[in-house]
Amino acid sequence: MSKIAMFGGSFNPVHIGHTGLVARMLKQFELDKVYVIPTFSTPLKDNTPMLSPIHRLNMCKLAFEDFKKVSVSDIEILREGKSYTVDTLKELSIIHPQSELFLIIGADSFMQLPLWHEAERIFSLATVLTVSRDDIDADALSSTKALYEQKYNANVFIVKDPIAPVSSTLIRNAVKNKEEYKHLLPVKVSDYIRKNSLYAYED
Ligand code: ATP
Repeated sequence: MSKIAMFGGSFNPVHIGHTGLVARMLKQFELDKVYVIPTFSTPLKDNTPMLSPIHRLNMCKLAFEDFKKVSVSDIEILREGKSYTVDTLKELSIIHPQSELFLIIGADSFMQLPLWHEAERIFSLATVLTVSRDDIDADALSSTKALYEQKYNANVFIVKDPIAPVSSTLIRNAVKNKEEYKHLLPVKVSDYIRKNSLYAYED
């Protein structure tokens, strides 16, 4: 059975934490394909400083250009409205009826999962793959995993070692404040930000 994963996010912008996470999961779980899916609108985030979906999609395409097993998908952007992961997983299960589905998420999102729309259905549709991030370490993830197993009959795998201490917020602020940020992004993404004067980039 092939292993198909979804990795969603606002990707505002996509950074080396995202590409590093996908690379790690592809390798560790021998995934056959990962769909990287930028949201149209992210339900639990304040969307006011959100860049247009097309820019976020374009940056994802550049960031994952060299990943043979990654498809960057506009499925949530075309759907419009609030982007619920459960809806996307349902669509993926129709496109890939014979496959095992996985959901890749960082520790911060993992801890919030019960707040997500139809959380129980998410766990029944996909095995969740998560990784430590910032102050959410493997111990914190393990106890939450136990809780989800009990409450939702969830299947969860934890990657203990964090990927990189990077966030999109950090990058947006660095661009705005003219601080160094290029080392936190794939080269083509930082070029794109500069060329399109995103995040109040100024020469
Ligand atoms: P923001 O700073 O705008 O909140 P973000 O850096 O958290 O953004 P998102 O696009 O919201 O990026 O993240 C998409 C997914 O990638 C989430 O599941 C998030 O937990 C995960 N993720 C983002 N950065 C990292 C990182 N450095 N390590 C591990 N997971 C990450």
